[in-house]
Amino acid sequence: ESLVRAGADELERAAEAALRPRRLEEFVGQRVVRDQLSLVLQAALNRGRAPDHVLLSGPPGLGKTTLAMIIAAELGASLRVTSGPAIQHAGDLAAVLSSLEEGEVLFIDEIHRLARPAEELLYVAMEDFRVDVVVGKGAGASAIPLSLPPFTVVGATTRAGLLPAPLRDRFGFTGHLDFYADDELERVLMRSAGLLDVPLEGRAAAEIASRSRGTPRIANRLLRRVRDWAEVRGDGRLTLSAARAALEVYEVDERGLDRLDRSVLQALCLRFGGGPVGLTTLAVAVGEEPETVETVAEPFLVREGLVGRTPRGRVAMPAAWDHLGLERPAPADT
Ligand code: ATP
Repeated sequence: ESLVRAGADELERAAEAALRPRRLEEFVGQRVVRDQLSLVLQAALNRGRAPDHVLLSGPPGLGKTTLAMIIAAELGASLRVTSGPAIQHAGDLAAVLSSLEEGEVLFIDEIHRLARPAEELLYVAMEDFRVDVVVGKGAGASAIPLSLPPFTVVGATTRAGLLPAPLRDRFGFTGHLDFYADDELERVLMRSAGLLDVPLEGRAAAEIASRSRGTPRIANRLLRRVRDWAEVRGDGRLTLSAARAALEVYEVDERGLDRLDRSVLQALCLRFGGGPVGLTTLAVAVGEEPETVETVAEPFLVREGLVGRTPRGRVAMPAAWDHLGLERPAPADT
């Protein structure tokens, strides 16, 4: 079963890669970040120098990886990709850094998950373009400084606040990606439909967009599911009714909430009487890691006004009870 799953994940990734915009001008939405980045890149190109290091923050699926690829493409540079969790030891990072060529872009996904020693090595490398290679062991060990050619780090994180200040300060530019508006997602969908050559009707695009949690990755995924439905149970056209029927099969509700979102809301309202409840307790109740609840589910639930964050923990907002079709509890006497 795990083989089948791995195969499916692989297919999803390949499908996603095929829909990635390659240049900044194809990148839909995020006007502010796009403008800022375009200046940073143009200035670097004019000077013939590698640009400042770039930090991209925001919830998953909003285009951080895509932007890193675009940055390299716009600079005409090659891209090296790694991630915080993939780097187990500082030595792994030293090896990557010391093999970089002039002007290369090094993308570090989930940079907030780098281990402390790797993090320290990284900020020296970013600041001084130097890495200390340790040779030997124990008392006889010595560090040989190795200078690096200029390069650009693009770091991605789900929350810039998770990065320690010394590392955060090494980035000359931080772009914050926010959820996309429905009309922007419609444009993402129409673009994808064109690339996939599927007949997507405008009203269906609007329906899918409004249920995509403000996230292009989800929009593209739902588009593929609606296409499946249209091909198997419909006449191949992606109409409004095909979209609605498919989204019902995949348990995406009218507001775009998925299973995890709903179980967070249900736990909050039903198990914890609306809260406040601490993040860890809430995560245990839904069987997820606290980081997943905090970075994947919560930002959208907060934006939708369904969940509130208070100093004492998470609370269900009145809209949460309404959304679940539950009666709001009477206000407590305080
Ligand atoms: P993660 O942090 O989980 O890796 P991410 O923020 O890096 O997520 P990407 O992998 O860059 O997200 O984007 C997910 C998918 O959404 C891509 O396949 C891409 O096709 C699409 N996408 C993202 N942003 C845009 C955009 N602005 N315009 C068009 N398509 C986009």
